[in-house]
Amino acid sequence: MDHMTTEGCQTHADARPSWDQYFLNIADVVATRSTCPRRAVGAVLVRQRQILSTGYNGAPRGLVHCTDAGCLMRDGHCVRTSHAEMNAIAQAAYHGVAVSDSTLYCTDKPCLICTKLLINAGIRRIVYRREYEDSVSDGMLAEAGIAVEQIDPR
Ligand SMILES: [Zn+2]
Ligand SMILES: [Zn+2]
Repeated sequence: MDHMTTEGCQTHADARPSWDQYFLNIADVVATRSTCPRRAVGAVLVRQRQILSTGYNGAPRGLVHCTDAGCLMRDGHCVRTSHAEMNAIAQAAYHGVAVSDSTLYCTDKPCLICTKLLINAGIRRIVYRREYEDSVSDGMLAEAGIAVEQIDPR
């Protein structure tokens, strides 16, 4: 192997994403399927480097989308959609896939309601990109012993 080839290999190795970056990058792609224009969120459930389920925020299955009918607003929030994390859990349930002991990769840190669902679904670790401040969520995640990590924030 000559010197130039070795250098090329080294550059390629440095460019490879870590497993956490890889699955979070996939969550970014999943978010592009969101049907609510107010925010695009993507979630991926992974166990032992195997994708179990994905979800994005959108209207319930078969119902009209925000992108077609406009958002359904109540108290300043769009209430038409269910959240990406909820939909990832629901997608797994729909197909009979166990999600216990998995890692959630999500473009956004989960809200309080999703946090409670994730604890009950047996998720052990959460990796996310965008911050979402909620001290009650933080307390519950700590109490449940769930590892939470923000990487490559945007
Ligand atoms: Zn909406
Ligand atoms: Zn949520």
